[in-house]
Amino acid sequence: MISNMFTKFIHDFDVDFKRLVDKYGTPLYFLDAERVRENYLNLHSNVTNLWKNSLICYAYKANSTLALLKVLRDMGAGAEVVSGGELYAAKLVNMPPERIVFDGVSKSPLELAEAIRENILLINVESMEELSLIDKFASKFNVKVSLGIRINFDVKVDTHHYITTGRRFNKFGMDPDSAYTAYKKAQKMKNVNVKGIHIHIGSQILDIFPYVEVKEKLVNFCRKLKSTLKLALKYVDLGGGFGISYREYEKSFPISDYCENVVKPLTSYAGSIFDDDFKIILEPGRFIVGDAGILITRVNYVKESGGYKWVLVDAGMNDLIRPALYGAFHPIIPLSKVKDEYEIYNIAGPICESSDIFYIGFKAPLIRPGDLLAILNVGAYGISMSSQYNCRPRAAVVMRDNGEIKLVRRRENYNDIFRCDILEKS
Ligand code: PLP
Repeated sequence: MISNMFTKFIHDFDVDFKRLVDKYGTPLYFLDAERVRENYLNLHSNVTNLWKNSLICYAYKANSTLALLKVLRDMGAGAEVVSGGELYAAKLVNMPPERIVFDGVSKSPLELAEAIRENILLINVESMEELSLIDKFASKFNVKVSLGIRINFDVKVDTHHYITTGRRFNKFGMDPDSAYTAYKKAQKMKNVNVKGIHIHIGSQILDIFPYVEVKEKLVNFCRKLKSTLKLALKYVDLGGGFGISYREYEKSFPISDYCENVVKPLTSYAGSIFDDDFKIILEPGRFIVGDAGILITRVNYVKESGGYKWVLVDAGMNDLIRPALYGAFHPIIPLSKVKDEYEIYNIAGPICESSDIFYIGFKAPLIRPGDLLAILNVGAYGISMSSQYNCRPRAAVVMRDNGEIKLVRRRENYNDIFRCDILEKS
């Protein structure tokens, strides 16, 4: 059923989507820079009201459209990157290196060398082997590398099991005992400066309780670092994971409660278990861009088969994989003129996979071929997770900023799909 809340949501954007797709075609991603700024400022003001020395490193994986990265850089955000490619994107938008943190469980030697060469704020290490490799590179390049260690404190989180990252059985981070050994080892290394701690417990988290739990574990761990190793950390990187509302009954992450119950208590340890002027780092992705994106798709066919009415649209799981990958729900709003007759539809894409479905049991006014549908809240993990599967060019992206809507990523064409193929002449 189409909810009033989401119908209002689309009206709030106040955009003539029909004209937009006449110009740019479908499927089309629309991004709203103003919404991104609002979300960033909301988070930023809540955190800095409590602790000035904080840095919001936007997680590039959520959406790495360069025009969007530039908006966030201009707002003062830093970058959380997890690959050489994302580090490259940070460089393309002239992100100052002292605002970049590099995370990732399996960074390649080449990626590590690139990050070391860039002299970024922090590399968050996830294994003893990675630590040794960094030390080796740093001595070769004759530099001192600033490090954090990602700890997996085994905290239960209520979200899809594919996006929990801080459970014992997840591949991420080091368990506390191994991490302690890593700090000890790192302290003795001449070319690394171990200054930080890093956690990230999962994504699309809607309550603060797991964060409070992990904060307590982090404090206890850092107390031990201080008392036994005389180590007062300079960077406390709390990761991201703050959820947004995809369904009417969901409330987006209570950021002020989080700040009150997680950030504020940490500030009381300045000068005791942490450095006097320690920096709090956050790595949100979805919270900043999730509700700033809409995917416009056109209906190709409406058919009836096996007792079901299928609306077959021109966007597929290659454009937006979240529903197929983890059964994620995205509200859908018909943009074409609505008739007062209702039907129950399944909305699906063109990809040759049965999981290429956006909505099962959508109660909507009569939908006809040629109609436009808006798939909402796709600003995060939409275009960034898109692919060319089924040899489909990726969608175009437009962005509204200062009242103007501009193309910020052109639609791919068939040449783009085969650009890297090597075909011997026969
Ligand atoms: N930081 C790390 C290490 C991550 O793995 C992720 C996402 O998986 C994020 C930050 C951003 O998460 P979210 O978009 O849920 O805020």
